[in-house]
Amino acid sequence: MPQAEIETTRPHQHQESARLAALNSMGILDTAPEPAYDAITRLAAEYFQADSAVIGFADETRVWIKSHWGEAVRELPRSHSIFDIVLARNGPVVIPDIGQHPQFQARRLPFRALNVVFVASVPVRSTDSSIVGTLTIFRQETRADLTPDELRTLESLADMVTSQLELQRLRKSLTRERARRNRPASVPSGDQPWPRSSDLRRALDRREFVLFYQPEVDLCTRKIVGLEALIRWRHPERGLIPPMDFIPLAEESGLILPIGDWGLAEACSQIQSWTREDPRHCTLRVAVNLSARQFLREGLADHVESLLLQSGTSSRQLGLEMTESSLIPNMNTALEVLGGLRTLGISLSMDDFGTGYSSLSYLHSFPFDVLKIDRSFVGRMTDGDQALQIVRTIIELARVLGMDVVAEGIETREQYRLLRQMGCRFGQGFLFAKPMAADDIGELLRLPGRVLPDPEDTRPIAATCMA
Ligand code: C2E
Ligand code: MG
Ligand code: MG
Repeated sequence: MPQAEIETTRPHQHQESARLAALNSMGILDTAPEPAYDAITRLAAEYFQADSAVIGFADETRVWIKSHWGEAVRELPRSHSIFDIVLARNGPVVIPDIGQHPQFQARRLPFRALNVVFVASVPVRSTDSSIVGTLTIFRQETRADLTPDELRTLESLADMVTSQLELQRLRKSLTRERARRNRPASVPSGDQPWPRSSDLRRALDRREFVLFYQPEVDLCTRKIVGLEALIRWRHPERGLIPPMDFIPLAEESGLILPIGDWGLAEACSQIQSWTREDPRHCTLRVAVNLSARQFLREGLADHVESLLLQSGTSSRQLGLEMTESSLIPNMNTALEVLGGLRTLGISLSMDDFGTGYSSLSYLHSFPFDVLKIDRSFVGRMTDGDQALQIVRTIIELARVLGMDVVAEGIETREQYRLLRQMGCRFGQGFLFAKPMAADDIGELLRLPGRVLPDPEDTRPIAATCMA
């Protein structure tokens, strides 16, 4: 922006009061440093090849630095700071050469040792849109103004800070919701809870588990690009049992290891059978869910490699999905195992992104190539701006990290439209197809070009299949 436009005038008193109220209600200044913010400053610094980056929040007189990449800083006086300029402008500020700006006091820079020349700063807003802080990058060399795309990326990174706060709130309600859903169904007194681990063992022996498959589609072309394998238990009396009714017990009892081995082998043999039927399906990737216990097992990569060899499946045809919570308890082992799987050429997806404890701070360290947006966010997208903003920033985050993004749980045309509009490339959900038995999927795969009908014109195809 032209230098003359830069002002540091104070906002009106009522605006300032609203701003401070928002800051207090978000509890930002009182909480411990949020590790996710460090991931954001690091991303910003790396993406813009900056020497430093900071996230700061300002009260009446000080700017409190809550995260820094580069030199460590804690606080600085607010007046004539970059924060004041952003606030006066009510928007981003890019200063290619700070030496040329008389209103701006260089001693208000957070860095003493750095010979900063170029500064770009964007607002971090509260949910009611007040500016509570800034994300700022610094360079020791001047550079041209940021392009509109670059500025948008920097603003998206700042939005992620806001999203983190909203995520924390949603996460709390999700955890409560899940705990309620996972509570075992009440059992009439005298009856044993069902299932028990002996039931699972028997089911394994009797080959009662089956894999259903749900298509993952390219949202622009509606071509089926992959399938997610989802286990079910076909119980002779009780019917089709969904995974959440037995996977937690399988994990607890350790039976998830043989069940998981069966699932991997079954998926590989199914891939082979589809590819035999039509060699063009060699581009189809089938993703299998892994639980924490399987993941931390010794020699997982070797085991997967031998399964691929035995079945003659190419590693490009297999994907593995895991949630953040299965990685966090043992980060070092997780990194090693993921590295081994990646070396094999298997695609790795982070499942249920956003629901884990601090997704952003870890995501950067893991070699994932796909990020799956949890369906709770997709489902809330049309409820209000905030959930929509979270989805938008997750898509942007994936873009910055060079990852593919898959939106889970697309149920409505409106969600489909919004996701396409936001540049989300892939998705899955009941709008396109529910999880189905292998034979039914075989029929979808026979559609010309594997392209599903347009859900804008038709009822959800495969609406009659079981979830
Ligand atoms: P997930 O991996 O996140 O799988 C997606 C879940 O969302 C599936 O539930 C799928 O049926 C459901 N879904 C997909 N689209 C929609 C939609 O549009 N609306 C709604 N409401 N739901 C949708 P499912 O099959 O019940 O699986 C639940 C979870 O069980 C999975 O979540 C995964 O964490 C776990 N799971 C499934 N199969 C396996 C497995 O073979 N091994 C392990 N360890 N876990 C598995
Ligand atoms: Mg999954
Ligand atoms: Mg998921």
